[in-house]
Amino acid sequence: SACRTAPIQHHASWASRPDSWRLDTVLAHVGTGTDPATGAITTPIHLSTAFGHPGLQQSTGYDYTRTASPTRDVLQDALARLDGGTAGFALTSGMAAVQLTVTALAPHGSRIVALEDLYGGTYRYLKGLADDGAYEVDFVVGEAGLHQALRRPAALVIIETPTNPMMNELDIAEVARWTHAAGALLAVDNTFYTPVICRPLELGADIAVYSATKYLAGHNDVMAGAVVVADPGLGERVQYQLNTTGATLGPFDAFLLLRGLKTLSLRMQRHEANARRVAEFLRADERVVRVLYPGRSGMVSFELARGLDVAAFLGAVRVFTFAESLGGVESLVTCPAVQTHADVPPATRVAYGLTDQLLRLSVGIEDADDLVADLRQALDRAGTTA
Ligand SMILES: *Cc1c(COP(=O)(O)O)cnc(C)c1O
Repeated sequence: SACRTAPIQHHASWASRPDSWRLDTVLAHVGTGTDPATGAITTPIHLSTAFGHPGLQQSTGYDYTRTASPTRDVLQDALARLDGGTAGFALTSGMAAVQLTVTALAPHGSRIVALEDLYGGTYRYLKGLADDGAYEVDFVVGEAGLHQALRRPAALVIIETPTNPMMNELDIAEVARWTHAAGALLAVDNTFYTPVICRPLELGADIAVYSATKYLAGHNDVMAGAVVVADPGLGERVQYQLNTTGATLGPFDAFLLLRGLKTLSLRMQRHEANARRVAEFLRADERVVRVLYPGRSGMVSFELARGLDVAAFLGAVRVFTFAESLGGVESLVTCPAVQTHADVPPATRVAYGLTDQLLRLSVGIEDADDLVADLRQALDRAGTTA
């Protein structure tokens, strides 16, 4: 029942997908063949929150939706498969996934080592835990900071690669070695790269964490989070905590995420090709003093020269929308200092290069010429360099 520890459920349909299938085939077939009774090509949305029992001490495998849902199970099996993990979990948001990672895997009072330039919401959450005395949290800068901090024992290490919005890439395999030597587990927030570009578990990480609201879902129309673990024992801990605390993804949202995943690989190819064009254009423009693009995925940060008016730029864009998310088919532009990273103290963010003139683009799948033309005219409206 929902009150006891529930074993991790796998959907029977997944057994029909051979291990030899490559990523694009797995993605296109996410959710197919899940309903033998009708042959439905896509996954049925099972809204029932309760499931009838065949008899005393008997279950169809489904009792209550918080514990297990047939629609969510199909999604969770897909998430596990995409990352090469033993179990995947779908949650109500990326922040729920971050919180679950901490509470399921780091004992109360233990030491957490985290990058300082994490997603603003993750920074805020961890800072709050530290301020409340619930955990000892050390915020560090870059690989050098992680290496130094992991000379002392810890329970959990949380990183993002590339970092947001500074786009610094970290060597996951190296960080995993330091992490394990310190007796800790490594959680990698892989929201920006997705399993199409990077598979953290294969590089030694213990947990991959996602805001599935972003690229995984990909259409700016569903909020979700995901956690994938390598070790079955960790999976049991995550399952226990998730079933107990309740942030499991609902069936409608699970369906939307399944639907989004089918085109993930295609979308990432186009996001990346467009981002390359945009980065090239920005690098050649004297009104832009810095372009941060790691060469993969669709996220590009850049800094407007002094004298250029950020508000005028944001007011002028037409193909891009001034909005604070990323990873959807539509291009968005964000000003991290006042939006996603407003909770990071100004001195902290400026020290790592996040100035008020820094803008972050989520480059969508539109025509690259239209994207470049839009940026050019917005730069014209932003004025001239000081
Ligand atoms: C958006 C985001 C989150 C938080 O996810 P939500 O779905 O908004 O709760 C966490 N990490 C990164 C890198 C993000 O971009």
